[in-house]
Amino acid sequence: MSDQSKIPQATAKRLPLYYRFINNLHIQGKLRVSSKELSDAVKVDSATIRRDFSYFGALGKKGYGYNVEYLLEFFRKTLDQDESTPVALIGVGNLGTAFLNYNFMKNNNTKIEMAFDADAGKVGTEVGGVPIYHIDQLEDKLHDVGAAILTVPLSEAQTITERLIDSGVTGILNFTPARITVPEGVRVHHIDLAVELQSLIYFMKHYPLDNEDD
Ligand code: ATP
Repeated sequence: MSDQSKIPQATAKRLPLYYRFINNLHIQGKLRVSSKELSDAVKVDSATIRRDFSYFGALGKKGYGYNVEYLLEFFRKTLDQDESTPVALIGVGNLGTAFLNYNFMKNNNTKIEMAFDADAGKVGTEVGGVPIYHIDQLEDKLHDVGAAILTVPLSEAQTITERLIDSGVTGILNFTPARITVPEGVRVHHIDLAVELQSLIYFMKHYPLDNEDD
């Protein structure tokens, strides 16, 4: 979508969150929603919601709120919900297995189509309905897969990243603690669960929230 470039990145990051909530409202048969209701549900202050939604061309009316149908249509289009995005997962260990068993399709159209591992015991099996191929088959099997989830050991992360990029992958969700290096044009989102947990505990201790309401 050409309009998408106009949406600030911070707003874009909240899109899936809004989408999920609005979709639930739609399923419940609700036709409209106020920014207060939205704010309570997604825990984003209502001023931010109003600003975000103005980028979506959704102008809430006083005493009416936002039209659920309109928002849903906008989010579907913007997040390419009508088109499913094939994703590959590399490394079917504890974390990788959990992701394969997790039904991403419940909330959006993202589907892990295939997985790769170096362990001969895992190759040829399926987890959560997803076939596991040997990592040596990566280049043969990866067709039209734009995004990959990386759940391999730290030491393997960079080499596999390079192979993924050579095979046409342009987005990587990196769950390894490795700070992988990628060429310009390749997007990496890094999620280190250990760091996130440590950070949460640090913030709980040093920045208690009791004086704030949101
Ligand atoms: P497990 O308990 O199954 O070993 P884990 O998450 O503790 O899981 P890790 O050592 O982090 O184990 O490895 C994650 C997965 O990555 C394992 O299934 C492992 O076989 C796989 N793996 C290791 N090296 C490679 C590689 N070069 N290419 C693809 N997969 C690999």
